[in-house]
Amino acid sequence: MPPRAFTDSKLVIATHNQGKLPEIAAFLDGFGISLVSAGELGLDEPDETETSYIGNAILKARAAALASGLPALADDSGLAVAALNGDPGIYSARWAGPNKDFAQAMQKVEDALQASGSSDRQAAFMCALSLVWPDGHDETVEGTVTGALVWPPRGQNGFGYDPVFVANGYDITFGEMDPDKKHAIGHRADAFAKLLHRCFNHRADDQHD
Ligand code: IMP
Repeated sequence: MPPRAFTDSKLVIATHNQGKLPEIAAFLDGFGISLVSAGELGLDEPDETETSYIGNAILKARAAALASGLPALADDSGLAVAALNGDPGIYSARWAGPNKDFAQAMQKVEDALQASGSSDRQAAFMCALSLVWPDGHDETVEGTVTGALVWPPRGQNGFGYDPVFVANGYDITFGEMDPDKKHAIGHRADAFAKLLHRCFNHRADDQHD
């Protein structure tokens, strides 16, 4: 079956993460779609009970689409550290604890790396993006950016684990990088390129005629 094209005029962004919202909005800019966040609609944040990025992205988008009656887009992302067998992975947000303290989460990753005894500092940010329609149909893709962890954290930009991640080919962390640059090379950009190609290409043609 060919992928389903997105032909609606309104889309729910199913995230309560304030760090992700502007980044997601920037990727959808210029398509003539009005965006509304799950938070603005007062939608509940479902528990992320799946065991994969893709499973959790579908779960979040499906919950928002069913509750709102509108198509919904959700992202599930995380930091996968090679020497930690992919941890914190889908638990990346949860490693920051109830206060979402990422200084603590970055320290926890560093402590785990030291405890592992490994000198392998390779890591990747992963992102699954799922677009779900109110009838339950989904189009779901995955993106990644590979790099290495540094210590101590550097830079005030971005969010989450950005201050300890250096993408391959760069020597500054995502926390030190200009946000536009990070958005262009990151895991969400990779996933969005795939999703836009799959579901939104026809709109780009309309817009740029
Ligand atoms: P969730 O997808 O909302 O479950 O949370 C993903 C978590 O992964 C975030 O809270 C961050 O800790 C981390 N994460 C995802 N994307 C990024 C990023 O671009 N930079 C830094 N941390 C990220």
